[in-house]
Formats: sequence, structure tokens, C-alpha cells
Amino acid sequence: MTLQAPKGTFDWLPPRSERALAVREALTAPARRAGYGYIETPVFEDTALFVRGVGESTDIVSKEMYTFEDKGGRSITLRPEGTASVVRAVLQHGLHNGQLPVKLWYSGSQFRYERAQKGRYRHFWQVGAEALGSEDPALDAELILLAVDGYAALGLTGVRLLINTLGDRECRPVYRAALQDFLRGLDLDEPTRQRIEINPLRVLDDKRPEVQERLAGAPLVVDHLCGACKAYHEEVRSLLTASGVAYTDDPRLVRGLDYYTRTTFEFVHDGLGSQSAVGGGGRYDGLSEMLGGPALPSVGWALGVDRTVLAMEAEGLFPGDGEQARVQVYGVPLGEEARRRMFLLVTELRRAGLAADMSFGGKGVKGAMKGADRSGASHAVILGERDIAAGTAQVKDLVSGEQAAVPLAEIVMTLKERLDK
Ligand code: ATP
Ligand code: MG
Repeated sequence: MTLQAPKGTFDWLPPRSERALAVREALTAPARRAGYGYIETPVFEDTALFVRGVGESTDIVSKEMYTFEDKGGRSITLRPEGTASVVRAVLQHGLHNGQLPVKLWYSGSQFRYERAQKGRYRHFWQVGAEALGSEDPALDAELILLAVDGYAALGLTGVRLLINTLGDRECRPVYRAALQDFLRGLDLDEPTRQRIEINPLRVLDDKRPEVQERLAGAPLVVDHLCGACKAYHEEVRSLLTASGVAYTDDPRLVRGLDYYTRTTFEFVHDGLGSQSAVGGGGRYDGLSEMLGGPALPSVGWALGVDRTVLAMEAEGLFPGDGEQARVQVYGVPLGEEARRRMFLLVTELRRAGLAADMSFGGKGVKGAMKGADRSGASHAVILGERDIAAGTAQVKDLVSGEQAAVPLAEIVMTLKERLDK
């Protein structure tokens, strides 16, 4: 058997791979327009970064990380998410000592050892945006809007926005204690009982219906907010409303760790089955301190490129891109001398800005014309011995079938005139 890609991974192949590029481009364009700069961090980091920056009690750190020892005996982990690396890089390079907020966007592979299924992979692609160093409800609203605009630019209509607030250092501990009291009184399995003690908010996120049933009367953070958190959340919501963004308040939407504060949000799409989240984010005011930095209140999101492509396919948003042309012009050389000349001509066409390809491997006219057809090119340039002698080539319009001899020196100009819209 030939080798296969590892379980939980897949290859993006043309033409479908163009969809992933288009999604990455469209989802990040609004952030770039809003002054977010591009950051690229390593695909692997010291394991300690994620243990501290994502949190030991999370599924990601406890079950999903690709961790290994490198040849120098260091514990290394393939990144499972982007935020911890971005904060690490900001602190390492002192970006937070300049103008605040520091606005950054990223795009790249993430790795999580998950139960592989449609929409849930072990290697997947996220784009992300982070604004670090400011506590301002307008910044939370800005980030949410940038994601909303990204989905809208792709033509998606089925993306719903869920939002919640998690309180802060003042009010969260009181809520946490109330939630623990409630949860301790429930009939739950042992792992869940343990989670109540370490990470009680995460219990609210349990996907099992029998657990959800028992959680019906659980205290909600909205009923425990301090005045400052209440006002902050009201302002975020009011800015969203004023910008024409529709959202649903979801009082059960949580992130489990103490350094996640206030605003939390998720984008879901109903065409994806149980892997419904296409993106998510929130405010993480305590993360910098967890990583040994100063207080750096920040907010950000990560959007799943793979799931966004699936959502678009579910909405039928890529009609007929399978027939999209690979190139505009296709060269058909007949004979050795023609092959050398065609190689140079195709190079010239490309340098002039046209997309061009040619037949390789010494095919006869039939095979080469089939190649022209499959390339999607609108024009073929056919060069035989007689043409070379006459100093011309045949330019064939592959749509109308019309063909005419054109002097070799005028081929590039002629095709540019016809094809440059
Ligand atoms: P889920 O609840 O589906 O596991 P998550 O809370 O783990 O999602 P985040 O860590 O917030 O997801 O990542 C942001 C986005 O990245 C998700 O909304 C989703 O679109 C995408 N994503 C997360 N995990 C995967 C995965 N294993 N395969 C494909 N996309 C993923
Ligand atoms: Mg997950």
C-alpha cells in the first residue's frame, strides 16, 4: 500500500485548495484594514508556554497536545492555538512598551490530537487577530465586527454570533464559588466532579445531554456581575447593535480559565453538524501575567479556516469553481526547435503578466491540444516547423475556434491586448 497522510489530516489539492486561500484572505482583510500587523511565530514552542498560557485543566493541554522531546532534551509542543505564542512574542520583543493597543493578526497551522471527524482535524488552519494592552469595550466590539465583516465578505449568511461575559477578578470568584456549591450537589461522574474543583466553568460547557439536563438550574454569571463588568458588557453590546450586528446572548458560553475575563464570543454555523463553531474569542486580561509579563488587558479571536470552507460549501457558495481556468494561454510546440522557442515565448508571456503554460514531454498535436483544453486557457499558441520558417505562430481562440497566423514578435502584444481586461 502506498503511504497515506496521517489520521486526522488531509491534503488541500487544487482546485479546492483555492477555497482555503480565498477564505484566509477574506477573513483577515478586515483586520489588516483596521491596522493589525502581520505576525508569524514558530510552529513549535516550549511546552511550558501552552501549559501556562492555555491552562493545564483544559482539554487542549490535558489531552490534545503533540508534545515530544527534541534531540537536545527540551520538551517541545506543536502549537495547538495562536494566542499564547502571540503574547509570548509581544513580551519577548517588548512590543507592549510602545503604542497600545498592539494589534496583530496571524494565519497558520494548528495541531491537536482530537477524535478525527468531519470538521475536526488533527492538523487544521486558523486565522487570528489580537489587540493587546487596552481595556476598552470599543476594542472588543471592533474585533467582533472584523470577524463579522470577514464572514460577510465571503457571502456567508448562516453564521450566528453568540456572546457572553465572564466577569473579572472582582466578581468571578464569587460566581465561581456559587457555581461550585450548585455543582457539588449534582449526581455527576468522577472526572466531572474533579473538574468542579479545578475548572467549574468548564462543566457548563459539557456537551453530554444528560449533564446539560442536570445543569438546568445552574447559577449564571450574568446574575453575579459587578457594576463595572455590567457596564462594560452593556457598552460592547450597544456598540454591536449600533453597528448593525445581530447577536444572541448565551449565558452558558464560557472559557474555563481565570485569565479569561469579561467578553467571550463564538461564531456558529448550523450547516456543520456537531462541529458547529467556525470561530471564537474573547478577552484575556490575565494571560500576560500568567506568562510572567506585566498586566496587559487584551482581546482576540481565532477563526477556523477549514470549518469556514465547509460552511461555505454547505451554503453552496463556490458554484463551478472546478471549471476555473488554470491559465489564460497554452503553448503547443510541435517538434524540438518549436519546444525551445515556445519555452522562451511562454516565459515572455508570463513576464508580461499573463498566466501561461505549455505542453511538456514531447506530446503530439492531439495530446498537446487536449492539454490546452484541460488547462482552461482561452487561447492556444501553436508553433510548427512551417510557422518557424515563416517567423509566425498560430494563435487560436479556443472558444470560437478561430485561428490566425501572427508574427512571433507580435504574439505577446496581441495576446495582451486580447486578454488584459
Ligand atoms: P470546539 O468546541 O469545536 O472544539 P474550540 O473551542 O476547541 O472548538 P478554539 O480553540 O476556540 O475552538 O478555536 C477556534 C476555532 O478553530 C474553532 O471555532 C474552530 O472553527 C476551529 N477549530 C478548533 N479545533 C479544530 C479542529 N480540531 N479542526 C478544525 N477546526 C478546529
Ligand atoms: Mg476543541
